[in-house]
Amino acid sequence: MQNFTYFNPTKLIFGKGQLEQLKEEVPKYGKKVLLVYGGGSIKRNGLYEDVKANLSEIGATVFELGGVEPNPRVTTARKGIKLCKEEGIEFILAVGGGSTIDCTKAIAAGAKSEHDIWDIVTKKAAVEDALPFGTVLTLAATGSEMNAGSVITNWETNEKHGWGSPYTYPRFSILDPVNTFSVPRDQTIYGIVDMMSHALEHYFHHETNTLLQDRMVEAILRTVIETAPKLLENLESYEHRSTILYNGTMALNGMVNMGYHGDWATHNLEHAVSAVHDIPHGGGLAILFPNWMEHTIDANVSRFKKLAMRVFDVNPDGKSDREIGLEGINKLRSFWSSIDAPSRLADYDITEDSIEVMAEKTVSASPEFGNFKKLTKEDSISIYKASL
Ligand code: NAP
Ligand code: FE
Repeated sequence: MQNFTYFNPTKLIFGKGQLEQLKEEVPKYGKKVLLVYGGGSIKRNGLYEDVKANLSEIGATVFELGGVEPNPRVTTARKGIKLCKEEGIEFILAVGGGSTIDCTKAIAAGAKSEHDIWDIVTKKAAVEDALPFGTVLTLAATGSEMNAGSVITNWETNEKHGWGSPYTYPRFSILDPVNTFSVPRDQTIYGIVDMMSHALEHYFHHETNTLLQDRMVEAILRTVIETAPKLLENLESYEHRSTILYNGTMALNGMVNMGYHGDWATHNLEHAVSAVHDIPHGGGLAILFPNWMEHTIDANVSRFKKLAMRVFDVNPDGKSDREIGLEGINKLRSFWSSIDAPSRLADYDITEDSIEVMAEKTVSASPEFGNFKKLTKEDSISIYKASL
C-alpha cells in the first residue's frame, strides 16, 4: 500500500423522502439556481415537479438546462456555461444519471474559467475554481454523485475523455432509491455492469498489502452479483434498488482504493468505442472487460486466480493458476449473459471496419495506457478483434 491522503467532501444523503433536504442544502450556496437534467425521464416520473416545488419553497430563481444526452456532449456543457455566466448563476442542481452529473461538473468548472471547456477536458487548461453544485441521482451506475470525475464527448472530433479536479466534487448528493424505480431494465443492467467494472478496474493492480481494499472490492462484486438477478425480477423493489444504489456509489468514491491505483484500460477502450458509436457505457464495458482480462491474464495470474476463487467461488482442485483465472473470466461472462448484458460488438452493429479508428483513439492521449498492464494500439486492436 502506498502513502495516501483521502479527502471526499461530498455530503451523501440517502433514503426514501430525502428530497426534502434540498430546502436545507441549496440555500447555503445561493438562490439563483441552474437546474440541469436529461432527456425527460424526470418529467415522466414526477421528480421534476417535486424538485421544482422544493426550490420554489425556498424562493429560488430557477433557470433550466434540459436535454443533456447520455454520453454528454461538450456543446451542451457550453450552453450551460453561457447561461451561468449571463445569468450570474450561484448554484447548479443536477437531477439525473451520470451523464447529467458529468455535464454539470463541466458547466460548474467552465462557468469559473476563461478557457473553453474542451481545453479543460483535454487538460490543456487547468481547473481553477468551479460553481458549487449538488445532485439528485436517478440511476445507479457511475459513482459520479460522490467523485470529482466527469466524462465528456466531442462529436466534432469524435473524442470522449475523462477529466476531474478537486473543485468538481458535488457539495451534496441526494440518493433516494425510489427515484431509480423507473430506470428501464436495459439501463439498470448497464448500470450494474458499470459499477462492477469500476470494482474490477480497482482489483487489477500489483500493489501488496491491500488486504482490506481487496476484500472491500470483492464485497462490492459479490453483493452486486447476489442482488442484480433479484432486482431484475422486481424493478420496484426498494430493498434491491437501495443495495444497488449504495454499491454504485461505493465502487467509485475512492473508499475502496486508498493506497493503490487500479488499471482503467478497459474504460479507455470503452470510451474510444462510444466516441465513435455512441453506445451505452455499461454495454461497451460488458463486451470489452472479459476480453481485456483474457488478453492480460499473464501480467499477474495470481490476481485473476484470487478473483476467480473469492468472487466466483471457482474450485481450484487439480487446476493450474491460469486455468482457475480463466474459469473466473468465464463465470463473469456467464453472469453478465445471465442478466442480458451484451457480449459482442456486433450486438451494436460494430464491425471490423471501425477497429482501426477506435484503436487510434485509445492512444490519442498517450502511446501507452493501463496501469496493470501497459497496452499499445496493437493491444487495442487485438482486444477489439476478440470482442467482435
Ligand atoms: P445516463 O447516460 O445518465 O442515463 C442513461 C439513460 O437512463 C438516459 O436515457 C436517462 O434518461 C435514463 N434514466 C436515468 N434515470 C432514469 C430514471 N430514474 N428513470 C428512467 N430513465 C432514467 O447513464 P449513466 O450510466 O448514469 O451515465 C453514463 C455516462 O457516465 C457515460 O457518459 C459514462 O462514460 C459516464 N461515466 C462517468 C463516470 C464518473 O465517475 N463520472 C464513471 C463511469 C461512467 P433521461 O436523459 O431522460 O433522464
Ligand atoms: Fe464507468
